[in-house]
Amino acid sequence: MLYHALGLIYTYKCVAKCDICGFSCSPERQEKMNFEDAKRLIKEAKKSGIRLITITGGEPFLYYNEIIELVKLAHHYNMQTTITSNCYWADSYEKAEAYCTELRNNGARSIKISVDDFHNKYVSYENIKNVIKASKVVGLRLIVGCTITKNSMQLKGVLNSFEEEITNIGLYQYKCYPLGRAKEKISVDNFYYPKSILDDCSESGCILVTPNGSVYPCASMCGTIPSRLVGSIHNSSLDELICKASNNPHNKFICKHGVEAYLKELNLKNNDEYVDTCHACYEIFNNVHIKDLDNILERIHNNDKIL
Ligand code: SF4
Ligand code: SF4
Repeated sequence: MLYHALGLIYTYKCVAKCDICGFSCSPERQEKMNFEDAKRLIKEAKKSGIRLITITGGEPFLYYNEIIELVKLAHHYNMQTTITSNCYWADSYEKAEAYCTELRNNGARSIKISVDDFHNKYVSYENIKNVIKASKVVGLRLIVGCTITKNSMQLKGVLNSFEEEITNIGLYQYKCYPLGRAKEKISVDNFYYPKSILDDCSESGCILVTPNGSVYPCASMCGTIPSRLVGSIHNSSLDELICKASNNPHNKFICKHGVEAYLKELNLKNNDEYVDTCHACYEIFNNVHIKDLDNILERIHNNDKIL
């Protein structure tokens, strides 16, 4: 298993309180990564062969000066950075251009912005327009992420709200997971449950650190559960943690084969129950005791037909 990215969930604090938020972020949350720890991780990441630092939250721009220093540091070590934001700060074009310029000048590769019905309750589309325009003017790569439920506007509809030409922009649509606040606020029949989930384990190249320094083996929020915990940055070096995550037999297997074999062994259906592979992975590792999962993996390994 190869790790090419380090994900820093810099904070769970946010200016918004979106219904779809799987981490239940809000203005009341106070958890934030220690700045010195984040700097140390970036220095260590270079030695571990990491090429990309992703900074997410919560809303990382609440700590904008620290984020700029982290971007600068990653650039110094020849690593790229991408920062996720809801754009609350871009309430004028001038501000959007100033922030995008500073990010680009300090070496940020891209900014990923969250745009959908749910975020729009807290952040105006005018802010999004300002960032789309500014990122083009200053030459900062832009990625738009749109989270959807059955009743919400889909990415195509969201983009219709913008006059600007949507060119050279990375566009992604994500199905909302029934986790965190979304589990409380979104009705069960409003989540997308496809007929079968045979998609890959797509976020496995990124080792993820939460604000308190806990480390998880993939970039998906579905992997941030106790049974997937790799360790803590306060007890181990990043290299040790990457080594541990890479050598974990479950991580290795899922990265290569997905979770279908686990579902079969557990006699669970591969349809209607899960949003995607990551959600199935979450349900398996959140509900089945790890000792039982170890036994299941052993049985899977002994089955020549599967491997
Ligand atoms: S979904 Fe994004 S913007 Fe909304 S509360 Fe969560 S972190 Fe904040
Ligand atoms: S399938 Fe599991 S291990 Fe792979 S990215 Fe999703 S949550 Fe992480």
